Amino acid sequence: MKTGQVKKARAKVDISLSKSPGHLFIISAPSGAGKSTLGRAMLDQFPDLLYSISYTTRSPRQGEQNGVDYYFITKDDFENGIACHRWAEWAEVHGNYYGTSADFLDKKLSAGKDILLDIDIQGTRQILTRYPDAITIFIMPPSLEILRQRLEARGTDSPANIAVRLDNARKEMAAKDMYRHIVINDRLPDATAEMINIFENYRS
Ligand code: 5GP
Repeated sequence: MKTGQVKKARAKVDISLSKSPGHLFIISAPSGAGKSTLGRAMLDQFPDLLYSISYTTRSPRQGEQNGVDYYFITKDDFENGIACHRWAEWAEVHGNYYGTSADFLDKKLSAGKDILLDIDIQGTRQILTRYPDAITIFIMPPSLEILRQRLEARGTDSPANIAVRLDNARKEMAAKDMYRHIVINDRLPDATAEMINIFENYRS
């Protein structure tokens, strides 16, 4: 049996165990695996799905908007948030802090809303201790070699940067078994269809 089939079979059982009225979907992936594209496709496909906008101390990239892509805040504000238990999870990724608002999750889930989180493996581990029913999806490139080719073709990273990203990817992929579903993004239309199928399974 393929990994995907095992994960799907387990997913069916977990639906009945869900305690929260809203569903919490988490997607994680090594950089370059197509996670943002697939996340956007889910938001387009399911208009009532809410995106949890993370808080970060990193600077906005070209075209990114405060309150849309992230809430861009200072390190002091972020650290105050840690002290005040403002984050449902938080992590330091590539030297910057990233966190998810606990208040947003609790309010929206108890109002029956479905939420999409795009967070890393450290954040997923924390969310699962707080929301054990969260539906976790790990998006994988077909291989590390293909990931390398995609990062090179993207042309936004130096060779040294690509080496760091590949090293991170290797580490992140080692944590994939923590996730309930694994989607291999070989052809985007196939991966999109597989994701829609997973979301529909829980939302129906
Ligand atoms: P980027 O800076 O490229 O937008 O994101 C870098 C990494 O941080 C990605 O793997 C992304 O999933 C992760 N990330 C974004 N927001 C959060 C968050 O709120 N919490 C955690 N733990 N990771 C996040």
